[in-house]
Amino acid sequence: MSKFIQETVTHVHHWNDWLFSFRTTRQQSLRFENGHFIMIGLEVDGKPLMRAYSIASANYQPELEFFSIKVQDGPLTSRLQKIKVGDSLILSTKPTGTLVASHLRDGKHLYLLGTGTGLAPFLSIIRDPEVYEKYSKVILIHGVREVSELAYQDFIQNELPNDEFIGEMVKEQLIYYPTVTREAYRNQGRVTDLMTSGKLFSDIGLPPPNTEDDRFMLCGSPSMLKDTCVILDDWGFKESRHGHQAEYVIERAFVEQ
Ligand SMILES: Cc1cc2nc3c(=O)[nH]c(=O)nc-3n(C[C@H](O)[C@H](O)[C@H](O)COP(=O)(O)OP(=O)(O)OC[C@H]3O[C@@H](n4cnc5c(N)ncnc54)[C@H](O)[C@@H]3O)c2cc1C
Repeated sequence: MSKFIQETVTHVHHWNDWLFSFRTTRQQSLRFENGHFIMIGLEVDGKPLMRAYSIASANYQPELEFFSIKVQDGPLTSRLQKIKVGDSLILSTKPTGTLVASHLRDGKHLYLLGTGTGLAPFLSIIRDPEVYEKYSKVILIHGVREVSELAYQDFIQNELPNDEFIGEMVKEQLIYYPTVTREAYRNQGRVTDLMTSGKLFSDIGLPPPNTEDDRFMLCGSPSMLKDTCVILDDWGFKESRHGHQAEYVIERAFVEQ
C-alpha cells in the first residue's frame, strides 16, 4: 500500500439519493493542478478498491473535496456512500489529467461544460484566481436531468462571490448557467442543443464562439463528450493532445463498464 496515502473524512453532504460530496484531510505534500483527478478508494478485503475522482477543491485549500455519484451496485460507491466523518480513505499520490488551463491557447472566454458529476473539476477551476486573470469571462455550464442534481448552487451563487480573496473577480467574471433536461427549470435542454441553437450564447449575452476568443473544457459522460466534440470540431476548434496547446480539452466524468 506504499503508493497510497490515508486521509480522514472531515465532512459529508448528501445532495439527493444519487449524489453526495465529502471532504478529507490533505497532506501538504500532495500537489495538484486545478482540474486534476486522483485515484481514491477504500480498503476492501485487505486490498485497495480505487476509482478515479476529480478534485473539486482548489490546490491552495487545506482539505480535499470530492463530488460523487452513488451507484447502488457499484463496487466502490455502494460502500463509499456510507462514509462518515472520522473514517479513513485511501488516495493515490499522483494527481493527473487534461482539464488544465496550461493546455489551452490564450483566449478571452473560458467555457466549462460539465454534466452530472462532470461539474467536479470545474469547482476547482472556478476557485482559481489565475483563471480570472487569464480570461475576461468564465462560463460554468452544468447540465443535469433533474433539479435536485444541481449541486453546489449556493456555493457558486452566494458563497464564492463573497469570498474574501476572489469574490470580486467572481462577481465580475463568472457566469453560471445551470440547465435541466427532464423537469421544468429556468434553463432547459441539453447542453449540445443549447449550443447548436445558439440559445446558450444569447442567454448569457456573449457572441457565438470563435476560435480566436473562446476556449472550452468538457467533462461529462462518454456520449456527451462525443456529441460536444463533433460540434466544436465542426466549428473549427481543435482539441489539445499530448499537452500541446489548442482550443479545447476533455475529460471523461466516468467510463461505461
Ligand atoms: C477521469 C475520471 C474522473 C472521474 N471523476 C469522478 C468524480 O469526480 N465523481 C464521480 O462520482 N465519479 C467520477 N468518476 C467515475 C468513478 O471513477 C467511478 O466510476 C464511480 O465512482 C463509480 O464507482 P463504482 O465502483 O461504484 O462503480 P463503477 O463500476 O466504476 O461504475 C458502474 C457504472 O456506473 C456508472 N457511473 C460511474 N460513475 C458515474 C458518474 N460519475 N456519473 C454517472 N454514472 C456513473 C457507469 O455507467 C458505470 O459503468 C471519474 C472517472 C474518470 C475516468
